[in-house]
Amino acid sequence: MKALRLESIGRLTLADVEKPLPGPHDLLVRVEACGICGTDRHLLHGEFRSKPPVTLGHEFCGIVEAVGTEVSDIAIGARITGDPNIACGTCPQCHAGRVNLCRNLQAIGIHRDGGFAEYVLVPRKQAYEIPSDLDPVHGAFCEPLACCLHGVDMAGIRAGSSVVVLGGGVIGLLVVQLARLAGATTVILSTRQAEKRRLAEEVGATATVDPSADTVERIAGKDGLVPGGVDVVIECAGVAETVRQSTRLAKAGGTVVILGVMPQGETVEIEPFDILFRELRVLGSFINPFVHRRAADLVASGVIEIDKLISRRVTLDEAAGVISRPPAAGEVKVLVIPGRA
Ligand code: NAP
Ligand code: ZN
Repeated sequence: MKALRLESIGRLTLADVEKPLPGPHDLLVRVEACGICGTDRHLLHGEFRSKPPVTLGHEFCGIVEAVGTEVSDIAIGARITGDPNIACGTCPQCHAGRVNLCRNLQAIGIHRDGGFAEYVLVPRKQAYEIPSDLDPVHGAFCEPLACCLHGVDMAGIRAGSSVVVLGGGVIGLLVVQLARLAGATTVILSTRQAEKRRLAEEVGATATVDPSADTVERIAGKDGLVPGGVDVVIECAGVAETVRQSTRLAKAGGTVVILGVMPQGETVEIEPFDILFRELRVLGSFINPFVHRRAADLVASGVIEIDKLISRRVTLDEAAGVISRPPAAGEVKVLVIPGRA
């Protein structure tokens, strides 16, 4: 079968590899769609540790084509979405229920072969069935949506909350929607590209801000949109500027959730006095523990606007080019369709 392999840091090749054989607890899944994520670019450039040679792709959806000898509760032909993050179950973090912080975390598409291929092996416990009539491209959004859901859960958004989302990539645009679903009545998104601001308003942002103006003043200043700041700030850009803004946008007693990934080792100046004096809660949100089922149900219910976030669909042959280049202007999500000629 064809698979897009990270052969070594910086080298991505479309290879012919053996179609995998399911172990006793595995599903063999024919991949219908697999999203390209910023993490794939980080993996290619060695900014995030992986285990090359390995097939990338961790946002996949497909059809169960064969099952291992010990699998009896899922039918051949079922459509599934995969939670790529496999926790060991025995380390102290796993025993404490913090499976996303597992010391031995292994991810499909990062440490073991993933979904940029015609087939992927998925341990049964990592697979979530979705309706057979659900668009598989929507199924491929369950994984990123699950990451956003964990962040929104941590933020504690409630009916009537005010929220600022920093960064209008796919993560920010999904967080906007989840914040509204959680009951936020004010959801302000800050992102540089006008096209993405327009999109944010279409998917539920109550206002958008161009960060070239003074974002903090425009939002939290005395003549701003929410004078004194908002209940919750969710940082979804992963850049120093937005991290710096995040604590200043939260009101006293407010919550800041860092969802964006800044390069390891990079630092940002913060004012501890401000965090103390205004009792801010500053939280990190990493991947998606125990939320994949809810994310899949949300996608299946149709309440999440997904089609507007899809910029294009590409073949396996085209995927290496997409991952090797930075995202094009206006691009939100690109999906690989391995079955496409
Ligand atoms: P992305 O497309 O790179 O989104 C970031 C967006 O931030 C960009 O599209 C950019 O849009 C905007 N941005 C850049 N600088 C900005 C600034 N100064 N002010 C406001 N907006 C700015 O990536 P993504 O896929 O949406 O992911 C967002 C972040 O979440 C990434 O860092 C990713 O690694 C991380 N992530 C984290 C988790 C987790 O588990 N915590 C899971 C998935 C992804 P404009 O060009 O319009 O400004
Ligand atoms: Zn563990």
